[in-house]
Amino acid sequence: MKIIVATRNPGKVNEFKEMLGRLGYDVESLLDYETAPETDETGSTFEENAELKSREAAAYFGHAVLSDDSGLEVDALDGAPGVYSARFAGEKKSDEANNALLLEKLAGVPTEKRTARFVCALSLAKPSGETLTVRGTMEGAIGFERQGTNGFGYDPLFIIPSLNQTAAELTKSEKASISHRGQALRKLELALTTFLGE
Ligand code: IMP
Repeated sequence: MKIIVATRNPGKVNEFKEMLGRLGYDVESLLDYETAPETDETGSTFEENAELKSREAAAYFGHAVLSDDSGLEVDALDGAPGVYSARFAGEKKSDEANNALLLEKLAGVPTEKRTARFVCALSLAKPSGETLTVRGTMEGAIGFERQGTNGFGYDPLFIIPSLNQTAAELTKSEKASISHRGQALRKLELALTTFLGE
């Protein structure tokens, strides 16, 4: 069965292909539909932005759509970058620049105060506008240097304390089993079949 994920982020697309592929879905994304509209992320919460994206895409495609709005909350930065995670260092949306800025802002902050979490809101929308939205989180801490080359975004700086590894050192399936995105998706799994099976 086909599922369209309303994102153009290749890192997210890879993870959804892994996670939903295992459930037997054929994953398409906005990378396959160049002319699909770009939603303005004007919400102040992950959930609001996820719903804006899923509703607009479901209306455009006339098909149920899954969207993801996610980001990093750093306690020492009062929850920043939060919903601005993708454009923390500017509109160009560079993972490298975002990580450099994060390290700069945390310079001098000791290990015990570098706690952080990844948050993911997933929203399923039907063309009628009906939505179902859930949240998953993953707790961790921001390291002092990048480690690992897997994943995307802030993964090389995000340490999972129980593993003493960054998210960028995990395989796709290891990350999916504990990540904010994996947890949110597991909450949606049953609803997915009902929504998409109709
Ligand atoms: P969005 O497209 O507005 O949801 O932006 C999400 C941003 O949050 C990404 O561009 C990353 O910077 C960050 N992010 C979300 N999930 C992850 C993750 O699993 N690993 C690393 N960074 C993430």
